[in-house]
Amino acid sequence: MQENVPIKDLTTMKVGGPARYVQEITSAKQLPAAYQFARENELPVWVLGNGANTLAKDEGFGGLVLLSRLKGVSLKVSGNDLLVAAAAGEEMDDVVEQTAKKGYTGLEGLTGIPGTVGAAPVQNIGAYGQEIKDTLVSIEVYDAKTGKTKVIPKAACKFGYRESIFNTGEDAGRYFILKVHFKLRKGQMKPPFYVSLSTYLELHGITDYSPMSIRKAVAAVRAEKLPDVKVQPSAGSFFKNVYLSDYEAAKARAKGIQVWLERGKNIVPSGWLIEQTGLKGQSFYGFKVWDKAALILVNEGGGDYVDLAKARREIVSRVEAKFGYTLEQEPMEME
Ligand SMILES: Cc1cc2nc3c(=O)[nH]c(=O)nc-3n(C[C@H](O)[C@H](O)[C@H](O)COP(=O)(O)OP(=O)(O)OC[C@H]3O[C@@H](n4cnc5c(N)ncnc54)[C@H](O)[C@@H]3O)c2cc1C
Repeated sequence: MQENVPIKDLTTMKVGGPARYVQEITSAKQLPAAYQFARENELPVWVLGNGANTLAKDEGFGGLVLLSRLKGVSLKVSGNDLLVAAAAGEEMDDVVEQTAKKGYTGLEGLTGIPGTVGAAPVQNIGAYGQEIKDTLVSIEVYDAKTGKTKVIPKAACKFGYRESIFNTGEDAGRYFILKVHFKLRKGQMKPPFYVSLSTYLELHGITDYSPMSIRKAVAAVRAEKLPDVKVQPSAGSFFKNVYLSDYEAAKARAKGIQVWLERGKNIVPSGWLIEQTGLKGQSFYGFKVWDKAALILVNEGGGDYVDLAKARREIVSRVEAKFGYTLEQEPMEME
């Protein structure tokens, strides 16, 4: 166990003061003692993967951070399906690659999302028309409340947009995710694709929609517009999209606001709202609204949480003043 580790070194936005204790979890057997230590010392516990969707304040985290580093992936063919069991500390993108290479569909749209397998169901990651919930079967967890491991089936995870029981409601933070089970189908994604993906496919004359072909196209589309976390600190999409009822959507459309219909839900893309407010490419307190994707806020170097909070306030209030919608932050905050 390490003490006083800067959280900015454990997260992709590169903000945040020290974590009092940090422990790498490479075996589920370490968990009972780790949680016992936290209980005895009355410390909060926070599980961290790659920190690509997590922020910490400048005062840091006065508790125990458990780094999710369990490894192992198993792939089993069952008829037309591929059964995947991936440990929480694996890179999600590696699992996407392995399954796409074998010609199984269901995860290829999630190509290039930085982060671990264990974090993927927490906010039900999604991109290019796929969400992790579409192929997820069940999750093996360590339950910090009972000290036992158990299997949570998909239906009990209450997946929604960037939401699950793991980040919302009374059980948020209760479970350490150990392993995620997926079931993929032999086959391929079918058009219509997301606009940016279909534009790329058309432009390059690509008609091969096999998982590996789509994976390559998604990687290329992402590389064109998203910052590389290894070079440019960010936490990906900084704001959630705005969801509207049918009534609200009709009113918004009448005002010329862009509303998408996705999986039967009306969405105003927050990136569009920020762009229309004229903020794309602008910097606030050392944080820049990414000039190729307005939903992303990048740390231009050395910005602290306090600066980030000021930048967030500025963006939220300007969008609110123009459109009347209050943007909600997507990354989680350690507390
Ligand atoms: C450049 C960029 C692009 C991105 N693009 C997308 C995108 O297209 N779509 C999308 O959905 N997201 C996107 N994200 C967000 C991010 O990649 C995902 O949320 C990813 O799942 C984060 O993984 P992580 O391991 O870094 O999670 P962390 O930030 O470490 O953790 C996220 C949450 O999961 C919890 N957690 C992590 N591991 C476990 C575990 N083993 N057990 C229990 N809880 C756990 C943490 O406590 C925290 O609440 C992007 C981020 C960046 C930086």
